[in-house]
Amino acid sequence: MLKIEDVNTFYGNIQALKGISIEINEGEVITLIGANGAGKTTTLMSICGIVPPRSGNITFLGSSLLDKEPDEIVAMGISQVPEGRRIFPYLTVQENLDMGAFLRKDQEGIARDREYIYELFPILAERRNQAGGTLSGGEQQMLAISRAIMARPKLLLLDEPSLGLAPLIVLQIFDIIKKINTENKTTIFLVEQNANLALKTAHRGYVMENGAITLADSCENLLENEAVRKAYLGM
Ligand code: ATP
Repeated sequence: MLKIEDVNTFYGNIQALKGISIEINEGEVITLIGANGAGKTTTLMSICGIVPPRSGNITFLGSSLLDKEPDEIVAMGISQVPEGRRIFPYLTVQENLDMGAFLRKDQEGIARDREYIYELFPILAERRNQAGGTLSGGEQQMLAISRAIMARPKLLLLDEPSLGLAPLIVLQIFDIIKKINTENKTTIFLVEQNANLALKTAHRGYVMENGAITLADSCENLLENEAVRKAYLGM
């Protein structure tokens, strides 16, 4: 579905991605783990067209993304939940959800998806008329994910959904991520520093260090890998 091939991305003359290749098949949950500053967010920015690669290629369903603007990439079916959530604080929960569906015209489908989200996250249903900015951090993360789902993406990109949240809330959010994949048939690319949880949630994983991919394997194998256990699982 998504193919990243030998991508090099720079900020000025700082090279953040050094020849990375990642492949995501339809129906998979793929995780990218790595330390602070490894280049995980830059990988997502390169996919979305916000920080385009200087060389290499990224294709989605057979079409190159390199000549596309960020809004065209969203319209092709890729939605991102950025790090730090960034919901609209002065809009209500429901208005935030509707913003996610702004490219869609099927009013019935939009209403159905809204109800689906309220079933997934009953707390958002309770707070549907409350301003987004008054929600707790965990609820805002739920809202940010929900807003992305309202676009009906084929591929959902999640940047550190666990960041700054209490452990119980994180577990709840990761359960929902699995559900969105199995029930909603959405392919998911999950960028995480919480390697333990990410590797227990995804099918396959990539490990990134200093802008390069150092390991790619099934999550089962990565959880058993000695280097991964030492560097990322604190064992
Ligand atoms: P984090 O978990 O902290 O977000 P990350 O793995 O997502 O880390 P990136 O944010 O992709 O890492 O950063 C990769 C490298 O690029 C780092 O060395 C970082 O300092 C650098 N970098 C990121 N954004 C910029 C920018 N706007 N300008 C210059 N350098 C940047």
